[in-house]
Amino acid sequence: MSNYARLPLTFDHGQGAWLWDTQGKRYLDGVSGIAVCGLGHAHPAVTEAITDQAGRLLHTSNLYGIAAQENLARRLCAVSEMEAAFFCNSGAEANEAAIKLARLYGHGRGISSPTIIVMENSFHGRTMATLTATGNRKVQAGFEPLLGGFTRVPYNDIAALETVAANNRDVVAVLLEPAQGEGGVRIPDVGHLAGVRRICDANGWLMMLDEVQTGMGRSGQWFAWQHEDARPDVMALAKALGNGVPVGACLAQGEAARVFGPGSHGSTFGGNPLACRAALAVIDVIEGEDLCERAAILGQRMLDGLRERLAPLPGVTDVRGKGLMLGIELQSDCTSLVTEAIDAGLLINVTAGNVIRLLPPLIISNEEADLIVDGVAALVERFVEFTVAEHA
Ligand code: PLP
Repeated sequence: MSNYARLPLTFDHGQGAWLWDTQGKRYLDGVSGIAVCGLGHAHPAVTEAITDQAGRLLHTSNLYGIAAQENLARRLCAVSEMEAAFFCNSGAEANEAAIKLARLYGHGRGISSPTIIVMENSFHGRTMATLTATGNRKVQAGFEPLLGGFTRVPYNDIAALETVAANNRDVVAVLLEPAQGEGGVRIPDVGHLAGVRRICDANGWLMMLDEVQTGMGRSGQWFAWQHEDARPDVMALAKALGNGVPVGACLAQGEAARVFGPGSHGSTFGGNPLACRAALAVIDVIEGEDLCERAAILGQRMLDGLRERLAPLPGVTDVRGKGLMLGIELQSDCTSLVTEAIDAGLLINVTAGNVIRLLPPLIISNEEADLIVDGVAALVERFVEFTVAEHA
């Protein structure tokens, strides 16, 4: 089906932060498969874990105990300060689990029409519930009727949440990204997540964070909420959790951890031994190589470099980032830069039309980080020179 507007490029293999196409040309990866391959490509620890597991057992189902799943739940709960895990296969499914959990939590409190507060410009996935939660009409258009039970507020706006609290007795949860990825690398004010936590506590709402893109070290902490110690009740994970092997998780703590009972939710593939071994290897490497700290240091290095080169330019609105999630906002649509970057042997992404988004692997060297900064800066310099001249 033609649901993807694919670039005319096919890769054959990868190593670390580099990919080779089927013609043998080499590219530096500033996208990581959209924040998935945090450990880069062909990481030996992941390769070893999945080849070992493939030789033993791929799948038995959740009818039976799965040791790797139990291990992974323990390891994830340890790094996330959560208490329980449900495993699935994607980010949308992790959010879907969170949405179902919030509704069940509401019904348990006698709220027959539970409502979840969601954000403008958010992205939570492409299933019916998650595209309803998503704050982007392009994702929703044509798929109406959307689901009920959601109310939307501007992102990074505590006053808007307080207004809903004063007027809507059906609210059971708030769902937000700790930094918006697809929406244009939007980073909330320092203290915003702590503010959301306070409002949730005051109203008995679940604070549910979609860490699908920000999680697993990318922001410079294991999870982005740890920058301000705003521990959520529910957290959705996927993407980098398996470094390319599909695995997602919905984690919870406190009352939220006890909402689901046998039969309330499930997934045939969720938490299978192969996916869990991959995720366990990912956690080992992030821990063993201090990749959260590395992401923070490298992210700052890249942000400084990009700001120095690009912030003064006319046509560049903002250069921002959180760890290795970086955004360069331009005044005009810059999707054409993706193919120009490909010609230059560099993979970048453009989101929201005018925001260059960089999501390099956490394992890149300083030299590779500088190469990405140089490559992107050169592209943007040429682009704004051209577009500013065109508008003059
Ligand atoms: N949530 C966020 C924040 C995302 O960035 C994405 C994907 O880009 C998703 C959810 C959906 O994840 P998936 O494509 O694995 O369903």
